[in-house]
Amino acid sequence: MYRVRGLLFSLSFAEPAVMRLFEGTPWDRPPRCERCGELETACHCPPLPPPAPTRKPPDQQRARVAVEKRAKGKLVTVVRGLTAADNDLVDLLTRLKTACGAGGTVKEDLLEIQGDHQRRVSTLLAEIGYRV
Ligand SMILES: [Zn+2]
Repeated sequence: MYRVRGLLFSLSFAEPAVMRLFEGTPWDRPPRCERCGELETACHCPPLPPPAPTRKPPDQQRARVAVEKRAKGKLVTVVRGLTAADNDLVDLLTRLKTACGAGGTVKEDLLEIQGDHQRRVSTLLAEIGYRV
């Protein structure tokens, strides 16, 4: 009984916070600029930086890891299926290079790590949350 009351209490307290989710969005734009206090039509504040691009979460992306042979018989571990639009591939490459202790490059939507590191690359990608 008390537990139910407590729950109801916390729910009613939570309500105003939920309503505030719309603050500052196009659905609840205040008539005055939040930074300078001027009416928005009279505001001369510099434009805000664009919002971060929305990216697909790792668990909605499948990475394909393969070891391929390059010129002079060199082996490279290649990661396909992760696009530059949905991932920070440069950052990802850095993490893979560190994990493998090897060099590598980003080529558009493809990552290459020098040497045969299929298992380590697959493990790290799975740890990050990618479907491998
Ligand atoms: Zn302003």
